[in-house]
Amino acid sequence: TSARVADLGTTIFAEMSALAVRTGAVNLGQGFPDTDGPDDVIEVAVQALRNGANQYPPGIGVPVLREAIAAHQQRWYGLVLDPATEVAVTTGATEAIAGAILGLVDPGDEVVVLEPYYDSYVAVLEFAGGIRRPVTLRAPDFRLDLDALRAAVGPRTTAMLINSPHNPTGMVLNAEEREAIRDLAVEHDLVVITDEVYEHLTFDGVAHVPLATLPGMRERTLTISSGGKSFSFTGWKVGWVSGPEPLVRATVGAKQFLTYTSGAPFQPAIAHALGHDSAYFEGNALTLQARRDQLCAGLEDVGFTTYVPQGTYFATTDIRPLGHADGVAFCLSLPEDAGVVAIPTQVFYDDVDAGRPLVRWAFCKQEGVIDEALRRLQALR
Ligand code: PMP
Ligand code: GLN
Repeated sequence: TSARVADLGTTIFAEMSALAVRTGAVNLGQGFPDTDGPDDVIEVAVQALRNGANQYPPGIGVPVLREAIAAHQQRWYGLVLDPATEVAVTTGATEAIAGAILGLVDPGDEVVVLEPYYDSYVAVLEFAGGIRRPVTLRAPDFRLDLDALRAAVGPRTTAMLINSPHNPTGMVLNAEEREAIRDLAVEHDLVVITDEVYEHLTFDGVAHVPLATLPGMRERTLTISSGGKSFSFTGWKVGWVSGPEPLVRATVGAKQFLTYTSGAPFQPAIAHALGHDSAYFEGNALTLQARRDQLCAGLEDVGFTTYVPQGTYFATTDIRPLGHADGVAFCLSLPEDAGVVAIPTQVFYDDVDAGRPLVRWAFCKQEGVIDEALRRLQALR
């Protein structure tokens, strides 16, 4: 094993899902829905399989999907993109992140990134030789500290890697925070890579506003999203990037040697999904909001301090009211103590103290599954 990989260990998601399988625990750890997305979308994939979409598609993705991505950005956000040059399909958002960082970050470049991080950011920045400059989001509300953001930008900073709605905290950037990011990016001429995979999963009327829509941002912003989150097909691994041609080209420059191309039959299906009317997207978010409320009320009742998210499908708790101090130890013994799996948020922080007592719970699960998890968690009281 190379030192590069050995240092990374095993991703927490694989570790905790394996623990759930081994112990028969209810898995509220790794974020994947336990209900599939719409049947009509599955049907398009089946037809594509039967109709010969079984060889390498174009590296940047099939035209029908690139056109659907461009149309989606225009319909929802008023962003006009050329599907031929300003959109590319990737193997999940995970490959979009890898391609963007490998394609845009040189060794020694500093990248401002929000922590807690989605874990692949750290790994890929290390592959690229980039240096992360974290800005720490803290309980209870995980708002972006604008002074800390400004302090994180230095002479070697070339990019910001932003994620909103934010995994794992559920924070959604507000107007003041978005403008602070914009002001810094413009002032220091930074590239902004923005992971917006939870773009359609916001609650209580909180709006997701893409950073690319702010004045001065379109020309410097690479936006990442994924069919996994909006349509509950995480196993299909269809993601994409959109933005100015040089940023998309740089990402594809790396992507061509990572996977070359991405799953052919799933691309027309996700193209079809992107065309669903707004009622589909809003209904999905409302269902998820009800699950959020169910889970958060239940966790509060068990005795956790619970931070209700504005978006994503994750809620965060502080475990200290139940007499625990360390989220890693808590999550490792939780399958035995209560038959439930959750994720220790601490592993996504460089500032371990900020994350030590925090635990993340996924609510993209059926009502009965959440009820069962909550029933089991009563054992902790
Ligand atoms: N970014 C964030 C913030 C995520 O939560 C996820 C999903 N785990 C991804 C990227 C990866 O998405 P995909 O499954 O499409 O690779
Ligand atoms: N995005 C999901 C999560 O945060 C799954 C991540 C993964 O399995 N890599 O739980």
